[in-house]
Amino acid sequence: MIQNMNDAAVLNNGVKMPWLGFGVYQMRDGAEVEESVGAAIETGYRSIDTAAAYNNERGVGRALAKCGIPRNDIFLTTKVWNSDQGYDSALRAFDESLERLGTDYVDLYLIHWPVKGRFVQTWRALERIYAEKRARTIGVSNFHIHHLEELLGESEIVPAVNQVEFHPFLLQSDLRAFCRERSIQYEAWSPLMQGTALRDKTVRKIAKKYGKSAAQIIIRWDIQHEVVTIPKSVHSERIEENSRVFDFEISNEDMVRLDGLDAGKRIGPDPDNFNF
Ligand code: NDP
Repeated sequence: MIQNMNDAAVLNNGVKMPWLGFGVYQMRDGAEVEESVGAAIETGYRSIDTAAAYNNERGVGRALAKCGIPRNDIFLTTKVWNSDQGYDSALRAFDESLERLGTDYVDLYLIHWPVKGRFVQTWRALERIYAEKRARTIGVSNFHIHHLEELLGESEIVPAVNQVEFHPFLLQSDLRAFCRERSIQYEAWSPLMQGTALRDKTVRKIAKKYGKSAAQIIIRWDIQHEVVTIPKSVHSERIEENSRVFDFEISNEDMVRLDGLDAGKRIGPDPDNFNF
């Protein structure tokens, strides 16, 4: 039973990753990202998810430097962008991310998207970064089963994490089961479907029943499914609200009702069909 903000998933190499983290996609570098990350850490979040592509690693780094929490108490994730995929370019991109983040290691380094013909070479670079202990864990994002099969067939290290779009409208149960069987931790991006999921009638009805907000219901649903989740907000009251998910439990019946909303609906691109 996951009971508080310090509870963490144990990844396949033994490293612990908090079930609840904080996403910073679409936050402007500078004051916006610095203040939001600062508010999240103040609230108790200890896991931050950024990416080279978000153009806000510097702000994340500054927020971490001034928050007063030791670096090794924070779980920091960043990602290699598509145009940097390949062995040498990924190594270079990693150094640049570290420089912008103002740190000498990350806790999780992810391949952002499965760029055809290049992600296996990119993974070799991540394996080297891991061997050099500059990333405590390495993983992937937006990988379908066939991408994972290709990667597993050609590599030494099993990804610790697969970060994919996940919310009650997109369950991808086959992918989740595949990851579970291979000890690849499932992680939800856009858990709130970028806010859209919060307007759903069923979600709102269940929220009312528990005296919780729609966002809290969905975040709690993630956690009860043992899916790591990283909701984003630039508003301190929502940052706080999204963290208050450890004082109640959704019944099995309501978990099933939420699962029943699955419609294979995406807010982002399908990893088999992206053009960036
Ligand atoms: P989310 O599903 O987290 O939704 C964020 C939106 O919901 C924002 O508009 C936010 O508004 C709003 N919101 C947050 N909390 C509440 C609340 N309690 N009540 C009402 N509205 C709320 O979307 P993201 O796309 O940001 O996904 C989360 C994280 O996942 C990203 O930040 C990023 O780190 C990661 N991600 C990874 C991807 C990948 O390819 N690997 C792709 C997309 C995201 P406001 O900020 O104004 O409060």
